[in-house]
Amino acid sequence: MAHNEFRGGVVVTGGGRGIGAAVVAAMAEDHQVIALDIDDTMPELADHRNVRPMTGSVLDTADLDRACRAAVDAGGRLVGMVANAGYNRPGPSAELPRSRWDEVLDINLSAVFESARAAQRHASQGLSIVAISSYAGLFGLPARAAYSAAKAGNAGLVRSLAVEWADQDIRVNAVAPGFIGTPLLQGSIADGTLDPTAMLARTPMRRLGNPSEVAQVVRFLLTEASSYVTGCLIPVDGGAGAFGLPAAGNDE
Ligand code: NAD
Repeated sequence: MAHNEFRGGVVVTGGGRGIGAAVVAAMAEDHQVIALDIDDTMPELADHRNVRPMTGSVLDTADLDRACRAAVDAGGRLVGMVANAGYNRPGPSAELPRSRWDEVLDINLSAVFESARAAQRHASQGLSIVAISSYAGLFGLPARAAYSAAKAGNAGLVRSLAVEWADQDIRVNAVAPGFIGTPLLQGSIADGTLDPTAMLARTPMRRLGNPSEVAQVVRFLLTEASSYVTGCLIPVDGGAGAFGLPAAGNDE
């Protein structure tokens, strides 16, 4: 296919900044991209003719349907859904109000399910769905019970949907970023809920990831390059997940 031919429409939730904005930029080269974000400023959104910002919430299925319809209208068919919108509300588990648990599960897990279902409703052929999970879903981080449970839930969710929808030509995968330099992460450092020294000590590559480094893996999962990959979770974490007990002399 010629480079300048559009391959279809893609929806990226939380596409206005951070990892979502990087995915939008990576896909807008050769796709029509709908960036659905609750924040209508979308400060980092690529100024590209193939990108359409849309204000709306992943917690509202009507907004998800609207975004999918717009992707079909713009691209001819829906080829990708990236369920990226998410955030954390850290706090000691013993005192965590039930409402906060529910909020974190809603945005990081239930909304991923609804995003996937909205995409499935609008699919015609060759849909790829990617959930943005987290390192926190694979390893224990204190004061993040709800976030860790929701992000771990993404792995089970993509496996189940992948096997259920394989015969509909729908692939479903997840990416688990480690520590990525985005406004979300910078906010956690600023409010003292994440310690940058400890993060880098746990990361063999000794640096934060760039949003574009996550976006390239998401792009791989959205495109024909990964045509036989479904039900998988790919960590993008500078080796953090592979890291075991720090060896003497190699710890910081
Ligand atoms: P970010 O806060 O920088 O960007 C998230 C975007 O989602 C924002 O633009 C926000 O307005 C939007 N959003 C929030 N609620 C929404 C809603 N209800 N509907 C639509 N949009 C909404 O965050 P980020 O760091 O880019 O994180 C993106 C995803 O990656 C999240 O799911 C996060 O949990 C995950 N993640 C991030 C890191 C990291 O280190 N930054 C690590 C692991 C996983």
